[in-house]
Amino acid sequence: MTLHSHIAARIKAHGPMRIDEYMTTCLLHPTLGYYTTRDPFGAKGDFITAPEISQMFGELIGLCVAQTWLSNGAPRPFTMAELGPGRGTLMVDALRACRSVPGFIEAANIVLVEASPTLRDVQAKTLQGYKATWIDTIEALPDQPLYLIANEFFDALPIRQFLRDGGNWRERQVGLEGEALIFGLAPAQPQPALNSRLEDTSDGDLIETCATFAPVMDAIASRIQAHGGAALIIDYGDWHQTGDTLQAVRAHQKVSALATPGQADLTAHVDFETLAQAALPCAHSVLTPQGVFLERLGITARAQTLATKLSGTALETHITAHRRLTHPGEMGNLFKVMAIFQQGSTPPPGLDL
Ligand code: SAH
Repeated sequence: MTLHSHIAARIKAHGPMRIDEYMTTCLLHPTLGYYTTRDPFGAKGDFITAPEISQMFGELIGLCVAQTWLSNGAPRPFTMAELGPGRGTLMVDALRACRSVPGFIEAANIVLVEASPTLRDVQAKTLQGYKATWIDTIEALPDQPLYLIANEFFDALPIRQFLRDGGNWRERQVGLEGEALIFGLAPAQPQPALNSRLEDTSDGDLIETCATFAPVMDAIASRIQAHGGAALIIDYGDWHQTGDTLQAVRAHQKVSALATPGQADLTAHVDFETLAQAALPCAHSVLTPQGVFLERLGITARAQTLATKLSGTALETHITAHRRLTHPGEMGNLFKVMAIFQQGSTPPPGLDL
C-alpha cells in the first residue's frame, strides 16, 4: 500500500481530512511516513539544514548554550536537550565545542526528542561516545535546569488552516477528486478560539494555527521557570503571520503538498509570537535573523580560523557554507532565532531582550 492510497481510503471512509492530520500522516505514519522511513538530509536527500551545511553552526550554538550555562552559575546536573535532532550533527558539533568548557560535558544529561526510529539510529551513530537518552514526548524531559535547542523542529509540527469568511472561518481540508488529492474548504463556522484574529485579518485572509505549540512550549517554559536554563529556537518564520505557508520539498525542489504524500518534506512557517506567548511566564528575546545571530557569536572569526587549514574545493565549499548560513539573500534572513529564559535573567549571547 502507498501512503496515497491509505489517505484516499481514509477520505472515502471518513470524509475530507484536516491539514494537521494530513501533515502528521505524511511525516510520521509508522511504516510509510516521510521521517519514519528515511534520512532525508544532504545533497543526495531532499533538503539541507544549517548544521549539515557547516560544523560552525553547531559549534557556535554549543558555545552560546555553554556561555548561558556559565552565566547562570553552571548548575549541575542539567539537561542538554534537542528537539528533532535530524542526523545528530548539531548536537555532536555543539558538544565537541563545549569540551573546552570545564565541567559542562560531565554535568550534561543529553536528551533527544525524536519521533523517527530511523533517525534515532542515525543520531545514535553520530553521538557514539556520548551518553544520550531518547524520549518520545517533550513532557518526559527531566525536572532540572534545561538548555534546549530546536532547529527546524517547530516547522514540522502539524498546522490547521482557516480561511476567513465574514465573521466565520472555513477550514482548509484535503479531499478527493477521482483518485487525486485536492484542497477544499469546509463550511463556514464560528471559531471562538480565533476571535483575536478577526481584529487583524480581512475577509478572504488565510491563517494557520498549531495546536502542538502550546503543550510543547509549556513543557519547556515550566522547567526553565522552575529550575533555570534557556531554549534556543531557530526556524523559518516570523512574528505574527497571515497567509498560506504550507510547503513541500523533494530533491531540493518545491513540489505540490498533495502530489507525493510521504515522499516530500512538509513544513509551515513558524509564528514565533505564538511560541513566545505560550512560553509565559518565561521571557523571550527579540526575534533575530540567523545571520545577525551567527555574526554576533563570531562566525566570521571561526570561518577564518577553519579556512587556514583548507585549500581548493574544500576551501570553496567552506566559503560558500559561511555565506549560505549568514547572507540575507540566503538563510541569513529567512531563518530567525528566539531564546526563552527566566524573567529577570539576561538572554543568551547574540540575542537582545
Ligand atoms: N534539527 C535537525 C532536523 C530538522 S528536520 C537539523 O537541523 O538538521 C525535523 C526533525 O524533527 C526530524 O528529526 C524529525 O524526525 C523530527 N520530528 C518531526 N516531527 C516530530 C515530532 N512530532 N516529535 C519528535 N520529532 C519530530
